[in-house]
Amino acid sequence: MSTDLAVGPTGSFVDGEWVEAGEHFAVLDPSTGGVLAEVADVGPEVARAAMDAAARAQAGWAATSPRERAAVLRAVHDRLLERTESLATLMSLEMGKPLAEARGEVAYGAEFFLWFAEEAVRLHGSFGPSPSGASRIVTSRRPVGPVLAITPWNFPLAMAARKVAPALAAGCTVVLKPAELAPLTSLELAGLLAEAGLPDGVLNVVTTTRPAEVTGPLLGDPRLRKLTFTGSTAVGRQLLADAAPRVLRTSMELGGNAPFVVLEDADVERAIDGAMIAKLRNVGQACTAANRFLVHESVADAFVDGLADRMAVSVVGAATDPATDVGPVISAPALEKIAGLVDDAVAHGARVVTGGRRLDGGGFYYAPTVVADVPETARIAAEEIFGPVAAVSTFATEEEAFQRADGTEFGLAAYVYSADLDRALRFAERLETGMVGVNQGVVSDPAAPFGGMKASGLGREGGPTGIDEYLETQYVAVPRARP
Ligand code: NAD
Repeated sequence: MSTDLAVGPTGSFVDGEWVEAGEHFAVLDPSTGGVLAEVADVGPEVARAAMDAAARAQAGWAATSPRERAAVLRAVHDRLLERTESLATLMSLEMGKPLAEARGEVAYGAEFFLWFAEEAVRLHGSFGPSPSGASRIVTSRRPVGPVLAITPWNFPLAMAARKVAPALAAGCTVVLKPAELAPLTSLELAGLLAEAGLPDGVLNVVTTTRPAEVTGPLLGDPRLRKLTFTGSTAVGRQLLADAAPRVLRTSMELGGNAPFVVLEDADVERAIDGAMIAKLRNVGQACTAANRFLVHESVADAFVDGLADRMAVSVVGAATDPATDVGPVISAPALEKIAGLVDDAVAHGARVVTGGRRLDGGGFYYAPTVVADVPETARIAAEEIFGPVAAVSTFATEEEAFQRADGTEFGLAAYVYSADLDRALRFAERLETGMVGVNQGVVSDPAAPFGGMKASGLGREGGPTGIDEYLETQYVAVPRARP
């Protein structure tokens, strides 16, 4: 495995070329607060050039055989795995996830390329008689066309892979706009796709600190056919409004407020194991992160004490230090927000069991924290924490747990713990939530449909239906053959 990478390319990538800009923006290493790289801060004219390239490349890419597209995607999968160490290091540096988790993200991101390489050759239509017998119904599927993909900073490789891999498999070209806080991995990915044989213009990457100004004109461009966005619900709402005039196809992977429900018959140790993952994975900065721990009052003390003991011994440190369990959060404002949520919870009567403070060390560190007795009136019960803070409150009945778990406008992920699988499944099936972990603290799987209900999004990524987001269906009516 190669480990020879510093920060890789820092220009935008348009039509197979690296594009520099007069202006640059700094990407910080959250572990130190220092500048990691200066990246080209491009304006609308470069986005327009990227759109031109994607539009020019569309017909040629759509005309390649599914096998050719699959071969490129498989080559990308292999190259990603070969470069696990260098890519994992880059992700740790640019967004602060611990190295072991970054390696896991390379494997997870690479798997989307393999999964969609396999899906590319199964884009089947159908043929059959109409119910009246008067005609034949023939359906086929075709690429929707050029795609604008906008991604967040928290999973720099996986969020891009989950969009780029199915789009390319379907035969679509892409303009990718990664988050300005962590754009380097997307640039590295673009270079790697080019090496793997992707033709110029099929994937373009635009780096900017002015996302609305740069992507806005693309949403009005008649050549764009699809917007796929992962990020906050607030920005998703705005983009849906911006996409409405052209009735653009949209997929939205938005914010969450996941409940983690521990029923009274749950195996508490197992629930604590799951909570450690559902809370601390990615330093709590996952849309699927457990945000509200709802624990039956009869097991609450055991759960809170056990979780606090485990959190208290987690090693906090620089993301690239192999000893680190919990890295920094992404930025100074994120740290500020987390501290504010904990302070507000305490002001509302919550009790800090462990942590509850920022840590020194130059970067943006917050101690792994458990706050118990969190009242529903505290902001932390309603807002995404996006940090290593577990907010716990208790319930007395299963119905109360359900009402509180489901009583939010979000519906991305939920977790339910019970020794009785039927009971856990019943609970899960009542929830208006796109994904539910039963007795486990992770739901993400490239082979499963990832996405949310209600204000958590539209559409699903990955799984057997992930490619549908990038396909149009055409139906042709053919008269029945005369006897
Ligand atoms: P964000 O909404 O601030 O930014 C996401 C992306 O949108 C970035 O690339 C940003 O530059 C861009 N953007 C912001 N304003 C824009 C505008 N007006 N026009 C066009 N682009 C714009 O989110 P974030 O802070 O990067 O990520 C965290 C959020 O993402 C959390 O809410 C999290 O839950 C959510 N998220 C959801 C999923 C999911 O699959 N549902 C996955 C990861 C993260």
